[in-house]
Amino acid sequence: MQLDELEKTINQLPRKRIGFYPTPFHKLENLSRTYGINLFLKREDMAGPGAISGSKMRVAEFVIGQALEEGVDTLITQGAYLTNSGMQFSAAARVAGITPILYLTRDEQQHGTLNEYRGNLLLDRLMDVETHYLSAPSNAFKNVKEDKQHVLDAMHARKAELEAEGHNVLIVPTGGALTAGFVGHVMTFKEIIEQARQAGVEPDYIYHTTGTGTALPGMLAAKIMTGSKVKFRSISVSFYQPDFWINEAIIVERVKDILRTFNADIPDDQSILDEIEVDNRFIGENYATPSEESTAAIKEMAKAEGVFLGPVYTGKGFAGLLEHIRTGKVAPNSNVVFLHTGDTANLFEVPGAAGPTSIIDQ
Ligand SMILES: *Cc1c(COP(=O)(O)O)cnc(C)c1O
Repeated sequence: MQLDELEKTINQLPRKRIGFYPTPFHKLENLSRTYGINLFLKREDMAGPGAISGSKMRVAEFVIGQALEEGVDTLITQGAYLTNSGMQFSAAARVAGITPILYLTRDEQQHGTLNEYRGNLLLDRLMDVETHYLSAPSNAFKNVKEDKQHVLDAMHARKAELEAEGHNVLIVPTGGALTAGFVGHVMTFKEIIEQARQAGVEPDYIYHTTGTGTALPGMLAAKIMTGSKVKFRSISVSFYQPDFWINEAIIVERVKDILRTFNADIPDDQSILDEIEVDNRFIGENYATPSEESTAAIKEMAKAEGVFLGPVYTGKGFAGLLEHIRTGKVAPNSNVVFLHTGDTANLFEVPGAAGPTSIIDQ
């Protein structure tokens, strides 16, 4: 299948256009020189509608497109207190005239009590989002079933309340992980390949940070459908493992769902699994706790290129890429694309995002 054919199918699906697409794509000249590779950045962080955005906007466009067709007027979603997804879904819902509601969890032992609106919480507040805070010791990192149930129960209770008042309510799981949304990142892949070709290169690797597994399925399905040779390398911020809420087998099922939407041939599970390479070594101490490598990676990107990565996702993902380059897992002269999935607001949320001396040195 050709790249253009992907778009034809996509254009038939319900979608509310909210972001600014195609997102920019550009070479990082200084880092490319430093590391002897061709390094490009794909800017999902600039997807809009606000200056602070990310990879969930593409997902939201399709989820909300379908929700509008179904007459939904209220969207409830959840996430860790600093959720990028919750912020982007709230923005998208506002654009679509749907009321957003957030259920946010916080591991107070790990991240302290909330005493100030910062980062995405501040942006959620500016959008006047009804926000409920729940204590959840597991945060997004561990697999504590009671914590998950507690959040689900609270969302469903609110949904029932609103339905009794005559509202049509959609619950969107963490990260926007609904089938309708996964097709969004088919377009990310299409744009990357086309923009890379305009720059005169065929990408060898696409690197990205993965958590809830919403960006990879669409990109990987597009790769399979177009027969591209590019390899995906996913640096995780949540441990991908069997029996966990996210793992490679779940990605395979999502890829197959997308292939079905496109009426494309479905390869056997093992050949899809072979395309997935998740590196769990860069999570650090915990989800949303800056690691030394991620802080260094954020600073290196900012200093070399004037681009800002975030401390929860993209700093860790980029730290993974830098390690792969330094250890030869990325061969010299390779064409590498790093997907900047967003996370910018969290620079203004997570203490220590700029290292131990976040207080101005006297
Ligand atoms: C959600 C998110 C991710 C992880 O995305 P998935 O594709 O859902 O695994 C990465 N980076 C940022 C900034 C995010 O908000």
